[in-house]
Amino acid sequence: MSKVTRAPEISIVRLHGEACIRCGSVSRPLHAAGQITYRGRPWNVVACDRHAPGQQLDGFRKDLPDWKFWRGRDEQGAQAGWYATRINDAPVEETVAHGLSRTVGAGSADELRRLVVEQDEARAELGIISLAAGSTS
Ligand SMILES: [Zn+2]
Repeated sequence: MSKVTRAPEISIVRLHGEACIRCGSVSRPLHAAGQITYRGRPWNVVACDRHAPGQQLDGFRKDLPDWKFWRGRDEQGAQAGWYATRINDAPVEETVAHGLSRTVGAGSADELRRLVVEQDEARAELGIISLAAGSTS
């Protein structure tokens, strides 16, 4: 057996979505915090109020400044769903008419990011925006 760097142990209650994946808190509400892969299988994990909101979205806001990101809420007021709306979008005739969406929603942060990038790529293909990768000039 080759020497393997072991990942830190993650308690089973965190993997099963019964405790915050980051701090282990079980105080409600707990929010869907996406999926992690641990020991070769995917786990749908949750996070407490302190650790769920914004954590991933903060990075998205930095990387994708043309989009406004937010969490939705369910009937109980708990966070549900991940959303983004494009700021300063081109006119509807150039976007929505071409099947593009100004607002996209997803069940996880990672999925949302993928959808947003797809939207920008489609806009670039139509010549509505230019994706100058890594350039801000
Ligand atoms: Zn927490």
